[in-house]
Amino acid sequence: MAQLSDDCFAFGGALTPLDVALDALAERTVPIAGQSVVALKDAVGRYLAEDVTVPFDVPPHANSAVDGYAIYFDDLSPDAATRLPVTGRAAAGHPLSRPASRGEAIRIFTGAPMPAGPDTVMMQEDCRVDGDTVEIQPGIKRGANRREAGEDLRRGEIALRAGHVLRPQEIGVAASLGHASLRVFDPLRVAVFSCGDELRNPGDDLDPGAIFDSNRFILSAALSRLGCAVTDLGILRDDRAAIEDVLRAAAADHDLLLTSGGMSVGEEDHIKAAVESLGSLNFWRLAIKPGRPVALGQIGGPNGPVPFAGLPGNPVAAMVTFLVVVRPLILRLGGASDLAPIIYRVRAGFDHRKKASRREFVRARVSTDGAAGLVAEKHGRSGAGVLSSLVGADGLVVLPEDMTELKNGTMVDFLPFSEVMP
Ligand code: AMP
Ligand code: MG
Repeated sequence: MAQLSDDCFAFGGALTPLDVALDALAERTVPIAGQSVVALKDAVGRYLAEDVTVPFDVPPHANSAVDGYAIYFDDLSPDAATRLPVTGRAAAGHPLSRPASRGEAIRIFTGAPMPAGPDTVMMQEDCRVDGDTVEIQPGIKRGANRREAGEDLRRGEIALRAGHVLRPQEIGVAASLGHASLRVFDPLRVAVFSCGDELRNPGDDLDPGAIFDSNRFILSAALSRLGCAVTDLGILRDDRAAIEDVLRAAAADHDLLLTSGGMSVGEEDHIKAAVESLGSLNFWRLAIKPGRPVALGQIGGPNGPVPFAGLPGNPVAAMVTFLVVVRPLILRLGGASDLAPIIYRVRAGFDHRKKASRREFVRARVSTDGAAGLVAEKHGRSGAGVLSSLVGADGLVVLPEDMTELKNGTMVDFLPFSEVMP
């Protein structure tokens, strides 16, 4: 199993553009998840751990694309109907056991191997059958309705690359190559907790001054959607010794520790001191809104250092920083090679002012406006703590660093939640 270097999360103090930070993360991190060989039926959603090479041509034999008659093109008259005797039969799984000769028509069905000899298949709808003969009109092209061996995949080429997520179609390709199982990365084992004396678990009483913990549930759900194996460590009280014990124990059997809140330097926030005493912690100050610094560090474990990520406590900031920073980190640690989501271009349906030099993520709802295409409207109340604004939002309008004023009607980037939290 690969390991991260001790200083991989060390990072400068200045406000950093998101792209610079993401490039640095990609450069400094490697897949650390374990690997297993799993049956195809268990492989969906997992990341492939090795290239899959094509061992033989797919399809292995030339075959018919339709139900009809296999013939030699050169037997057909170019300007009159041709009559040929039907002298054999080939069905899927039941090839003709002999080569076919000039002057023969072989009854053939979709997927049946082409008999040796004929180069063309006449569709049955275009033929007239008369007893043991078939009448074929002119006009077909040589080689019509014939699928060549290797048309899908050629022997020796790479069909699936390590790091790709296995969707139904990738699993289908593996099956078509005869693989009953695949080597994949294990789900990344992530321990999630929250920190703050004001936090209560849903279901408990809410005493004066307390609020329910929502971040832990957002993050756990998002991690599950990303294919991680999630351990819920609950709410850690603002008690440094207790926090250290829990983190030390969690580092023994997890690939990543993730928390939100409690990362500021206020005297009630003890996570920072706890992580520093167990390893190292760096504050990545990203030029994004919403988003306070994201803390990235490592905690010493029996099998080497384990990455630690601390997100802002405000729920919207926690979610945005999770999606733009922690998600790519998790994918990378978990073996994925393709980290960038697809960004769509949509028309902004609102005016907006922003500060220069930072990237802003605006919660938005998208609708289809006939000829104008997709239009994004600002959604919900603003504020980094307004969690309800994410409900009903379809994603985030992404406003670039150099923009200060957005005018209604301008084309903007849109990151759908469905891209990053399937
Ligand atoms: P902090 O980052 O700890 O200073 O918290 C910033 C804000 O986010 C405060 O209003 C906290 O009460 C709130 N907050 C922190 N953690 C959570 C959580 N797990 N769920 C909901 N709100 C939180
Ligand atoms: Mg706090």
